[in-house]
Amino acid sequence: MCAKIAVIGGGFAGLSAASYLQKMGHQVTIFEKNEQIGGRARKFEEHGFVFDMGPSWYWMPDVFENYFKDFGYKVSDFFELVQLDPGFDVVFSKHDTFSVDADFEKIKDKFEQLEKGSGAKLEKFINEADRKYQVSMNDIVFKPSYSLFEYMNWKIIKNVLAVDFFIPLRSSLKKYFTHANILKIMEFPVLFLGAMADKIPALYSIMNYAALKQGTFYPLGGMHKIVEAMEKVAVKLGVEIQLHAEVQKIIVEEGKAKGIIVNQNTIAFDGVVAAADYEFVERKLLESSYQNYNSEYWDKKVFAPSSLLFYIGVSKKIEKLNHHTLFFDTDFELHSKEIYHNPKWPTEPLFYACTPSVTDASVAPENCENLFLLIPIATGLEDNEALREKYFDKVMARLEDYCEMDIRSHIIYKRSYCKNDFILDYNSFKGNAYGLANTLLQTGPLKPTLKNKKVSNLYYCGQLTVPGPGVPPSLISGKIVAAEISKNLPL
Ligand SMILES: Cc1cc2nc3c(=O)[nH]c(=O)nc-3n(C[C@H](O)[C@H](O)[C@H](O)COP(=O)(O)OP(=O)(O)OC[C@H]3O[C@@H](n4cnc5c(N)ncnc54)[C@H](O)[C@@H]3O)c2cc1C
Repeated sequence: MCAKIAVIGGGFAGLSAASYLQKMGHQVTIFEKNEQIGGRARKFEEHGFVFDMGPSWYWMPDVFENYFKDFGYKVSDFFELVQLDPGFDVVFSKHDTFSVDADFEKIKDKFEQLEKGSGAKLEKFINEADRKYQVSMNDIVFKPSYSLFEYMNWKIIKNVLAVDFFIPLRSSLKKYFTHANILKIMEFPVLFLGAMADKIPALYSIMNYAALKQGTFYPLGGMHKIVEAMEKVAVKLGVEIQLHAEVQKIIVEEGKAKGIIVNQNTIAFDGVVAAADYEFVERKLLESSYQNYNSEYWDKKVFAPSSLLFYIGVSKKIEKLNHHTLFFDTDFELHSKEIYHNPKWPTEPLFYACTPSVTDASVAPENCENLFLLIPIATGLEDNEALREKYFDKVMARLEDYCEMDIRSHIIYKRSYCKNDFILDYNSFKGNAYGLANTLLQTGPLKPTLKNKKVSNLYYCGQLTVPGPGVPPSLISGKIVAAEISKNLPL
């Protein structure tokens, strides 16, 4: 007998959970409040430009390959993946930049030029990170992480003892490198985990391995191609997808989820997977007696930053920009303090520019540039048009200075997106962009658990639970939760 399962939210985690559950023989419906599937990775088209709204970095290609393999497909059945070379550029000042080549040997040579001996040290660091990556992917990240006992096997313990796992990544890096620019390059990949390297355990040097050794990839057509591929897989399996379907309540009776209320209609289900933001589901869709955590719990959590984003269409090419450019030309520490310790709009923000039209002619009209700007900011800040414009001018002035060209007067399309939009579109807690930070105290069993402790057939997945934020972890989260909930359901 198959069970009827509701999946709330059609981002990567929801799509993943739905497909795995449907493959197991259940009858799954995804309810997505927005007009399109994909969650934070939606896309929109304007004036001939195709803008990815969220993720732009395709790292850990093995995770995507394994995902599609689980359903009998290859990534290449859906989109063409290209490796970017350089993977990304880092701007330290107008005349001091570093291109992270696709070829790891070239990166080593460049490190060596900055700091004697650092090429060999990079090799050693990345070899350790490779070991952590293999252990993580094979023995750690696919566990539900209910308790530390899940990790008590000799293979994991041996590896944890052999390499830096729990000291802060920054301390681990400082054992290897001293050059300020090298440290910034090496600390960058963990910004994806929502905190600075002094708060992120060295276990996550797997991100350095992903960025520097595996490489940075791009699906031609844009990151949304991943969403489209996952949607095709889900629909082919028989998953039903309802759009404009905002879930208002999870109905619980005698410790069991009986169904949901969506657009004022009550629909009965045998099980519910909540793949929308965890805090919202708990606080707004469940009565307080069925919530795992109270509001004080969420207030104490370290969230990944919010972001001020700009989607810009430019009517000429910007020659100096590669696909990914990180502007680390201002005070890294000050900006981080203004995100995590003393939340305020940043004095002089670091920012990130993505120009996918450098690689992909399909995302912009001919001789135009598709430009995406991201400024990380603290969660919960005031957000209004004047502030957005102030920061637009700040970063555009720096971008124009770096590129030595006028860009602003060639803008033919511009849209901003910030904290208020994250709340409105995704029910995001304080407008966070990508979930809960992977700090040591918010890793594995210390994350919000994927099982509701009081409602036996209600589970959570996505970037606020295990394994954490980012596209690959969201895919994995859906797979873990599907296995867990199906243990409790009739087949
Ligand atoms: C600007 C930005 C840049 C990023 N860059 C990268 C990157 O380069 N690489 C990377 O790997 N990751 C990146 N990330 C992180 C990555 O996008 C997320 O971790 C991932 O998309 C989260 O997927 P999810 O399914 O957990 O959540 P979501 O994508 O948020 O999906 C949750 C869904 O639930 C829906 N929902 C909410 N409430 C309800 C309701 N009541 N009823 C029905 N549906 C509801 C929402 O509309 C949403 O569609 C980025 C994120 C952002 C915001």
